[in-house]
Amino acid sequence: MNQSEYIKLLKLVRTSIEEYKNWGEDELVLDNSMLSKKAKQEPIKEEKIAVKATESKITKQENIQMKTTEKKEPTVKQTKQTKNAEQKLEDLKKQIAECKKCNLGKYRLNAVCGSGDPYANIMFVGEGPGFQEDHEGKPFIGRAGDLLTKIIEAMGYKRETVYIANIVKCHPMKNPENPELKGNDRPPTPEEMQTCQPYLDEQIKIISPKVIITLGASSTRALLKTDDVISNLRGKFSQYMGIPLMPTYHPAALLRNPKLKRDVWHDMQKVMVLVNKKG
Ligand code: SF4
Repeated sequence: MNQSEYIKLLKLVRTSIEEYKNWGEDELVLDNSMLSKKAKQEPIKEEKIAVKATESKITKQENIQMKTTEKKEPTVKQTKQTKNAEQKLEDLKKQIAECKKCNLGKYRLNAVCGSGDPYANIMFVGEGPGFQEDHEGKPFIGRAGDLLTKIIEAMGYKRETVYIANIVKCHPMKNPENPELKGNDRPPTPEEMQTCQPYLDEQIKIISPKVIITLGASSTRALLKTDDVISNLRGKFSQYMGIPLMPTYHPAALLRNPKLKRDVWHDMQKVMVLVNKKG
């Protein structure tokens, strides 16, 4: 490698670290594709999330049939619970919309409470709203959101049959005075997460999912109270509020390093086995 190639490589690593930091990731998992000549010249293309079961070396038990899970008609009991849960989530949404418990509340355009099925089996927990989410008041939209939707669909669900929330409900910005500035996202601080966490706890209590999936380092560390890196934490079940919790990579990390999709797929297969076992 000559000097100019070396400088190019260092610039690439620096840019990637900056992007990862903006998404709360503090590990940079390098792979050969990032270092190849092609990757230096072209942006990384999104791959289809689907990975053949034979390629992913999953066990026979884990190799379960992927089929679209149609939303079941609620039973009388579920209808009552749903109404109850819907009402409770609606009340919580109003409370969050008024909240100014931390500085994030002063500058946000919209509080982003969460979205999905009030009696979902699976609840995804991300880090916090970004630019687009802040503008539209919905969680996980844009490229990372589209990828999360593909993951959910590959698991046999629809986006509206799971629940998606974040650990903080307002947009953490590097420059809070300018919410119209793109590239202004930053991860929430531990204090901001701690202040906002009771809202997430309340959502978990209302929805009572069978499994929680944390996306990325910030939400995983906050819920598991650890400083460990996401690459060590992912793929292993823990518990939060008595519910199994599976940490995995944030979809934004997959956009930067598509090779991580395979790890996420392994993690999601473990989740699906557990959800199926729980009936
Ligand atoms: S981030 Fe959470 S605690 Fe802070 S103002 Fe928004 S809703 Fe309130």
